[in-house]
Amino acid sequence: MHQPLFIEQAYIDGKFVGSKHTFQVINPATGKSIGQIPDLTVADTKKAIIAADKAWKPWNSLPVGERCTLVRNLYELIRKHKDELARIMTLESGKPLTESLVEVDYGNSFVEWFSEEGKRTYGETIPALKSGIHLSTIKQSVGVVAAITPWNFPLAMITRKLAPALAAGCTFILKPASQTPFTAIALARLVDEAGIPKGVFQVITSKDSQGIGKELSTHPLVRKISFTGSTSVGRSLMEQAAGTIKRVSFELGGNAPFLVFDDADIDKAIAGAIAGKFRNSGQTCVAVNRFYVQEGIYSAFADKLTAAVKKLKVGDGLKKGVQVGPLINPAGLEKVQEHVQDAVDKGAVVKTGGKALKGNFYEPTVLTDVAPNSLLAQEETFGPVCALFSFSTEEEAIRLANDTPFGLAAYFYSENIHRCRRVAEALEAGMVGINTGMVSNASAPFGGIKQSGIGREGSRYGIDEYLEIKYLCYGE
Ligand code: NAP
Repeated sequence: MHQPLFIEQAYIDGKFVGSKHTFQVINPATGKSIGQIPDLTVADTKKAIIAADKAWKPWNSLPVGERCTLVRNLYELIRKHKDELARIMTLESGKPLTESLVEVDYGNSFVEWFSEEGKRTYGETIPALKSGIHLSTIKQSVGVVAAITPWNFPLAMITRKLAPALAAGCTFILKPASQTPFTAIALARLVDEAGIPKGVFQVITSKDSQGIGKELSTHPLVRKISFTGSTSVGRSLMEQAAGTIKRVSFELGGNAPFLVFDDADIDKAIAGAIAGKFRNSGQTCVAVNRFYVQEGIYSAFADKLTAAVKKLKVGDGLKKGVQVGPLINPAGLEKVQEHVQDAVDKGAVVKTGGKALKGNFYEPTVLTDVAPNSLLAQEETFGPVCALFSFSTEEEAIRLANDTPFGLAAYFYSENIHRCRRVAEALEAGMVGINTGMVSNASAPFGGIKQSGIGREGSRYGIDEYLEIKYLCYGE
């Protein structure tokens, strides 16, 4: 019988567990508590690692067809409980319900994809250069995987890692963001119902992210760390993981440029800008952070974008018609305020917005004439703010776009096919949207270069992150 998905417990070795220490999870739209969750410790994490190691061999030994059927069961269950999952997600992350529903489908598309892709982890035979030997490769699961995930996509940032790991034959310990643990625990309930054996997936809820992160990234039985979050935390996890030479996959911060050339279709560019900027109130790693607009259409673009931004409806994500929710917490709001104030102090013009509303809400904002040395140009703002800069030549646009240590997503608009090829090749980013503001889907490799990450999620490459290649050399 199906149990409710809102559970105030963690999930270790097949059991939902409590703790005498708990912490409150706050709804960012109302500032009110939505529930309490166990504040687990490093000792609990050690237990989970032992359980994951014990579960690994039996899980890995299951025929891949059986493992993939269990992952497919999970897909069907997530589909069935879409509305309940989306509601939990909106309560803890603040994102509009319509976006949460889209995230359930998006997150689940990775579960479906890897329930199939798991069957295609082919090895190969290699022609031998001399007689007397026969060469081949097989792919085998990495082992115990530890994952640490952020709050901005409470489901999808988990499923992009969990589904390929399970299909590959790994076991998986998750430390979700302390702001959004309830979606992770709801997922654990569905993993349990799907028939996935105990110890294969576990969820450690805790406020002690540093202590738990250290244990996960230094314990010798953990063979891989997969992390999505800020570049600074990624850097420290990489340092810690170096001690036991773990595999790492990192999806880190971005600073996405959005270039609009004079030869762009301006209406398409406006639609792409709204999609690429305002999803989750600008709190996505692929959110546009810097708009570079060519001089000839700068004013027209700024006016049209301002008109479109003025129409966005801000409010509690559970209310009908809301398109822009709150920032995740007061610290998120302060960062946005600081970036806008800094830009205005350096001469930026506020075309619309520019003010905090009550609670964690911030007005959708357009700024023009932003100085290149503004914080908005250098750091991820993670808020509903469009910062417009101008450029004159293609070379200048590429130089400005690449002038950052980050390299996750980049976008540009042009109707000239030759320019499209040139600019797409020149941009230093793991993903480039050409005449589109949305790039992510399960069949495509998602990931960054430079300080935005290592490895790819989704696509046929995503499962390689959880597999080792073993080379076999047969003598005669
Ligand atoms: P964050 O502070 O790095 O937190 C992410 C996760 O790491 C949370 O679970 C957090 O736990 C945990 N954490 C924090 N400090 C830690 C430590 N010292 N050791 C181990 N774990 C630690 O990032 P965030 O502010 O939540 O998320 C936003 C960032 O994620 C942005 O930079 C965004 O660009 C990036 N992101 C990247 C992608 C991508 O695919 N490239 C996707 C989404 C988000 P607590 O919640 O308990 O602090």
